[in-house]
Amino acid sequence: MEQDEGAADDDGAPPGESVGRCLCGAVVLRIRLPAFWAWHDHTPATRKAHGAGYATYAGIWRSRLRLVQGEDMLRRYCDPDSFEIRTFCETCGAPIFYERRFGASMVNVPLALFEQRVGREPIYHRHPDEMRDWLYLGEPLAPLKGYPGIYRVRRKSARRA
Ligand SMILES: [Zn+2]
Repeated sequence: MEQDEGAADDDGAPPGESVGRCLCGAVVLRIRLPAFWAWHDHTPATRKAHGAGYATYAGIWRSRLRLVQGEDMLRRYCDPDSFEIRTFCETCGAPIFYERRFGASMVNVPLALFEQRVGREPIYHRHPDEMRDWLYLGEPLAPLKGYPGIYRVRRKSARRA
């Protein structure tokens, strides 16, 4: 796996570590860098668990991860079909851990929770065949008049390209 030489730590992370927080800030974790890998997950279960087109995770050795605060805020859901366990913050609902059946020494944490880089670029995809056709894939955008911050896909240019 390639190492990402990313930006220096900031925002309160000790050197060589990255800090992750849920939306409400109740759950805080730290990892020792680098993460093992980072990957995009397009599976239907992950899509629903995140309420999003896909989720991007950092795969982290458990021995390199420490829960700093919020353990009592964590709730777990075990998928009855896959036996995979998803842990989320009971206050804000943010996904925190995704534990797969195989690879017990590894835990997956949404990359979006981290305020610093994790030392890996998400260059891997799990089940890209499950990718939805409504995902934004970098098509050219144009500002929508009268709606600051809102952009619209320029369909004609996208189709010509
Ligand atoms: Zn929270």
